[in-house]
Amino acid sequence: MEKTVQLYEGKAKKVYATEDPALVIVSYKDDATAFDGTKKGTIRGKGAVNNRMSNFLMKRLAEAGIPTHYVEELNDRETLVKKVQIVPLEVIVRNVSAGSFAKRYGVEEGIVFDEPTFEFSYKNDELHDPLLNTSHALALKLATKEEIGTIKAMALKVNQELKAFFASCGVRLIDFKLEFGRLPDGSIVLADEISPDTCRFWDAKTGEKLDKDRFRRDLGNVEEAYQEMMRRVFGE
Ligand code: ADP
Ligand code: UDP
Repeated sequence: MEKTVQLYEGKAKKVYATEDPALVIVSYKDDATAFDGTKKGTIRGKGAVNNRMSNFLMKRLAEAGIPTHYVEELNDRETLVKKVQIVPLEVIVRNVSAGSFAKRYGVEEGIVFDEPTFEFSYKNDELHDPLLNTSHALALKLATKEEIGTIKAMALKVNQELKAFFASCGVRLIDFKLEFGRLPDGSIVLADEISPDTCRFWDAKTGEKLDKDRFRRDLGNVEEAYQEMMRRVFGE
């Protein structure tokens, strides 16, 4: 399947049409942004890491019964996926306090929750992705009640699967963001990506951060952290 026209260029990926209107090609870039796009940079090799890791995880999740947009990895950076209508919600699941949770509620990072937390942000760059609850999402008609039920159940299942998988790689899954989309038949599938850009990963032994927080917080060894996550997942 070949790319035709570019449909969209985002902060981390480009999306291309194909000859099949039901399929698009996503192309992962090395560009990195943080803090609402105000911090910009490049993480060499990131596009390939995120592409390959995301595809590997989506395949595993599909085997566990979670429908995804994944179709076929085309090369290091490009993947064929089912075109979806993205539900404009960033779905965030947390196992341990970190990032905006720690900041918003004035607690330290590293508090292990008894149960995972679940939250939505409205995926809207102009409004800076504000936090919103289910009743707000329904009021804004971002999704139906049934879709939100499906999304929540799928996100919690994804958490169970990924937590167990990363534990087997010596990595703690602290939190992550998912996006879901609607197929033409109205069914909901997991879309976008699952990568060190969209998850927090801490080394199980040392607590070392192995994700985009190294870029956000200028911790150094950013490229090395992405490569290390690649080794943990693929044993390379
Ligand atoms: P952003 O838009 O936040 O800058 P990206 O650079 O990752 O993010 O751009 C990728 C875009 O493609 C996102 O807007 C994402 O919602 C969208 N997307 C992800 N998967 C699919 C899909 N299967 N079909 C259509 N759009 C998708
Ligand atoms: N996240 C993301 N995209 C966003 C916001 C958050 O992928 O636009 C991920 C982030 O990498 C982390 C989780 O969602 O794994 C929770 O992020 P948080 O709300 O703590 O926000 P942040 O600290 O990234 O601003």
